[in-house]
Amino acid sequence: MADGLIRRPGRPAAEPRWIARGEDQVQPGHLACPGCAAPILMRTFLQIAGPRTVLCIPACCYAVIDGPFPYSSSGVNVVHCAFATAAVTAAGVKAGLRARGIDDVLVVAWAGDGGTFDIGLQSMSACAERNEDILYVCYDNEAYMNTGIQRSGATPALAWTSNTAAGKQGRKKDLDGIMAAHRIPYFATVSPGFHEDLVAKMTRAVRTRGFRMLHALSPCPPGWKMEERHTLTAARLAVETGLFPLYEVEDGAAWRETVRPPRRPVAEYLRLQGRFGQLPPEKVAEIQRVVDDDAALLAQRFRASAERAR
Ligand code: SF4
Repeated sequence: MADGLIRRPGRPAAEPRWIARGEDQVQPGHLACPGCAAPILMRTFLQIAGPRTVLCIPACCYAVIDGPFPYSSSGVNVVHCAFATAAVTAAGVKAGLRARGIDDVLVVAWAGDGGTFDIGLQSMSACAERNEDILYVCYDNEAYMNTGIQRSGATPALAWTSNTAAGKQGRKKDLDGIMAAHRIPYFATVSPGFHEDLVAKMTRAVRTRGFRMLHALSPCPPGWKMEERHTLTAARLAVETGLFPLYEVEDGAAWRETVRPPRRPVAEYLRLQGRFGQLPPEKVAEIQRVVDDDAALLAQRFRASAERAR
């Protein structure tokens, strides 16, 4: 344990019974836009998590994607909850199940970036600090997409949104650093463009006990002003350009890079998307400088972590 403290409730040695065997839970008929990455993430996740899963979904695109009440495309129990309450609803569901003697159900908060970076941050932080036994998945499409593409704390610098016509001023909030600072048992970034890495981290997150979190990049063709066929290309380029590095953090201390593709210039990622179409070359160069600085800082963390582990 990195900080010498014992975390509750610890990790099981054996594989929990809820691990599935690759069966599809997501049913046809969901309501996502063509090219949306969110159902790809959900389908992959539920193939791993299996039917003994409860999803707690606050206001976000997935509350719509899942289907109109009383229909659901998810194939598992879904609790729709208020915008700010994904984590605390999941913690309540878990506590209720435990009170009934049921401890083999995976309870998941599945929220967009608005409900995670902004509106649900307080309840998520409280649940992380208490080390509630839930898995939090943030599918990050980098704006409030289902209300008309308004900026969120996750919107990257200089991106167009409907209320940042000249490009967002300020940077994307460092949620990853915030969550690592909570010293949760497991945190990881994932991208649907790197499937093996995605599956490995989802599997690990499902198997771990205590508060764990996956931050998933979730390309959104209408919000990113991008062709639908480019969803997975964007998901790959975000990683390859260093804008969305793939790594995992254990107990807030052990930082490990999981995918290190050859680096490409950020311009390749930006020019795929109309939301960056207004940027002159000097602004693209500015983004490149910031990404290079961030990559150097992150590399220092990986090195320091590896040295401590020796
Ligand atoms: S608006 Fe974007 S995130 Fe929402 S369903 Fe459509 S593609 Fe997916």
